[in-house]
Amino acid sequence: MDRNTLQAASSIINKSHYLAALTGAGVSAGSGIPAFRGRGGLWQVYDPALARIDVFREDPHRVWEMTRTLMAMVTGSEPNPAHSALAAMERVGLLKGLVTQNIDNLHRRAGSRSVIELHGTLGKLRCLTCNIDFNSADFNLKEDDPLCPHCSAVLKPGIVFFGEAVPFGALMEARLLASTADAMLIVGTSAVVNPAAELPVIAKGNRAKIIEINIEPTRLTNSITDVFIRGRAEEVLPDLLGAISPCG
Ligand code: NAD
Ligand code: ZN
Repeated sequence: MDRNTLQAASSIINKSHYLAALTGAGVSAGSGIPAFRGRGGLWQVYDPALARIDVFREDPHRVWEMTRTLMAMVTGSEPNPAHSALAAMERVGLLKGLVTQNIDNLHRRAGSRSVIELHGTLGKLRCLTCNIDFNSADFNLKEDDPLCPHCSAVLKPGIVFFGEAVPFGALMEARLLASTADAMLIVGTSAVVNPAAELPVIAKGNRAKIIEINIEPTRLTNSITDVFIRGRAEEVLPDLLGAISPCG
């Protein structure tokens, strides 16, 4: 990794007063969770049409089969050094908040507290009839589809399906974080899916400095990114943490 680029990024972070982060599937690649698109991804095994809210309403059992595969992938994985470095940045007071598009709960498992899950999480279930959320851990999901204890409807996985709006509260919090930030770390996301993709633009509109970490350039790289660090999140973020720590 180019030392000058690392220095440029650490200098932005050291000078910042309100650092925010936006993460995507790439931050969990080092934990063995593949991106959904492309080789080894979920959409090679299942039809993405299954992740639609209207399909869930018609045939929840079919959707639960796919969800079980996803849950097995996620519960069998551990946070990697990228998640740990972001949690450490929050602990020392540098990182003020993190927005993730991931549904794998790995940021929280690594110790991050201020996490906005824009696309929901597999850790929750929702009854679409009663509009109540439940913790996945309270249900045996291995064999039977989970039922609402109040109305017996099949509970929906707590992730945002195609055709569903992102959770309103999470979106408002994410927009507030992006508009308050004076620096934003964007890690492992292709930044094409709205509304997540609008967050770097909001931050930049407020003159925040944008640092991007990815194994390949994205549509942000040559438009609004100030410093692009090419590399794997699980290698770059610990190095960046070392470069910004006074004792690092
Ligand atoms: P994406 O698949 O569109 O983009 C992933 C990005 O990560 C790419 O730009 C790729 O170059 C980069 N990348 C891959 N490996 C990397 C690594 N080791 N280090 C750094 N960068 C790396 O993902 P997205 O932008 O998050 O959007 C996909 C959608 O799919 C999201 O909405 C998300 O909810 C869902 N998803 C979630 C998970 C998860 O929870 N772990 C995994 C896959 C997809
Ligand atoms: Zn119910």
